[in-house]
Amino acid sequence: MKSTKQVRKRKKSSKPRVPKPRNAGTMTESAFWSFIRSALRQKSRWWKPILQCKLAARRAYKGPNKRQKFEYQCATCKQWFQEKKINVDHINPAGSLNCAADLPGFVERLFCEQDNLQVLCEKCHDIKTKIEKDGKRS
Ligand SMILES: [Zn+2]
Repeated sequence: MKSTKQVRKRKKSSKPRVPKPRNAGTMTESAFWSFIRSALRQKSRWWKPILQCKLAARRAYKGPNKRQKFEYQCATCKQWFQEKKINVDHINPAGSLNCAADLPGFVERLFCEQDNLQVLCEKCHDIKTKIEKDGKRS
């Protein structure tokens, strides 16, 4: 059985008149910050500590799948996964980026060194993310 997928309620009618002060009047404040957030996240893919973290968790794959060369160990459950099933996780999460004041901390945490990084499988990563979100709410 598949685990419970989070059902997110979608608001039916768009909120009346959210101001769009960004990008020539086409972006709301929150769209703007998610745009900046994803740009920074994209760059972090080429951040060396993140690549090194993956390399450190990698070993040659010896299983039946001929096209798979490597597999990666999850830091939490210690099982081995193919590359597309793992995430490089920030142990101390980069957190939210919703306004200019969040920027310095977000950048510092996102572009961290290898000691703050670990490889997690999808399942362990989901669990950790969920715990972090729940922790923030209370
Ligand atoms: Zn795992």
